[in-house]
Amino acid sequence: MTEPRFSGPDFAELEAVDPEIADIVTGELDRLRGGLQLIASENLTSAAVLAAQGSVLTNKYAEGYPGNRYYGGCEVVDRAETLAIERAKSLFGADHVNVQPHSGANANLAVYAAFAQPGDAVLAMSLPHGGHLTHGSKVNFSGRWFTAVPYHVRRDTELIDYDEVRELALVHRPRIIVAGATAYSREIDFAAFRSIADEVGAILWVDAAHFIGLVAGQAIPSPVPYADVVSATTHKVLRGPRGGMLMCRQEHARAIDKAVFPFSQGGPMMHTIAAKAVAFREAQTENYRRYAAQVVANAQALSQSLTDAGMRAVSGGTDTHLALFDLQHLGVDGRTAEARCAAAAIVLNKNAIPFDPAPPAVASGIRVGSAAVTSQGFDASDMNTVGVLLSRAVRAEAGTVGGDRELASVKNDVTALVTRKPAYPDA
Ligand SMILES: *Cc1c(COP(=O)(O)O)cnc(C)c1O
Repeated sequence: MTEPRFSGPDFAELEAVDPEIADIVTGELDRLRGGLQLIASENLTSAAVLAAQGSVLTNKYAEGYPGNRYYGGCEVVDRAETLAIERAKSLFGADHVNVQPHSGANANLAVYAAFAQPGDAVLAMSLPHGGHLTHGSKVNFSGRWFTAVPYHVRRDTELIDYDEVRELALVHRPRIIVAGATAYSREIDFAAFRSIADEVGAILWVDAAHFIGLVAGQAIPSPVPYADVVSATTHKVLRGPRGGMLMCRQEHARAIDKAVFPFSQGGPMMHTIAAKAVAFREAQTENYRRYAAQVVANAQALSQSLTDAGMRAVSGGTDTHLALFDLQHLGVDGRTAEARCAAAAIVLNKNAIPFDPAPPAVASGIRVGSAAVTSQGFDASDMNTVGVLLSRAVRAEAGTVGGDRELASVKNDVTALVTRKPAYPDA
């Protein structure tokens, strides 16, 4: 006779029912532990978050919002969503929070739905300069359904060109102005964006997908007081479950809620919402604030180490969890660098740099992030070591005897480093 199960995940059960998938899960854990995870949008979420996300809450249909659902039996999951909302409100000082978006892209779709009509002009950071696909790319709904007007970084400083933002806003009178990016390492001047938005009567939307976790830990300034709406993910620096969220001023609350459900989503993922609540609770702790400060210190230490090794930091460095490096004068392109690092168990991505002469599939740069390694306990001195290993890998000519030997040697050193401070030591 089997006992009723009240919660998951039960790994023995998975192994019995589906050994192939069980093997993939352990394989992924081994991969995470076996290398350096430097992808700037990734992290290592806590066991508590994993437990909430792998729970029986996945079963519940709860279309609607707490206290106002289209289904019965929501009294328990309502408590999870209410807690998630209340914790996020207090963490970020937001008037209104919606925790239902399934992802960052879904949260962004809801922002367009709440504030714009097809064809409206939307002013956002250019994709090759660090913007996101959902900020007006032609291969995304945003570029297909709206008129994207891109702004850029300055050639000399590689910082956002606020003069250009203002000029374009005055010419195009956009419905929405978007601040926020996927590959911009510096603090954003939210007050400057607010004043431009006010001047032209635009909605100011801050896409904080990448850096909201640093805001939660008070490591960088918050966009919440400046923006009409803030979209975010919960799985990047914030270290929660994969998902999205929205915060807005009270006057936009109804428009935002309706834009998520019923306009663009069906039933919310209550297991993920419960896990978001767990992440917000974790983010309220002193421990988390120390983590957030360390994430920035670690990105700066890595940036310094790579600069010392002859790479050029775009904009000269970082204020956040990520940094972008131009490899042109090493004579190595981004694609090659990514592959060489992968061979040494250093996981990162190639990235276009501003005004990149190379096509996007090749790219002249790499992007690195410090959140995941900080979660596994790395400090600034570890990051210096990471920088040395990374630069050895980038310079090693794979396919030559010496290069392959060097990559194997770097991989050995990576193994030694991650064995001292492993990801998921208790799993
Ligand atoms: C990651 C990211 C998104 C999309 O988040 P997903 O959860 O991958 O859909 C949106 N905007 C920005 C700026 C991002 O960095």
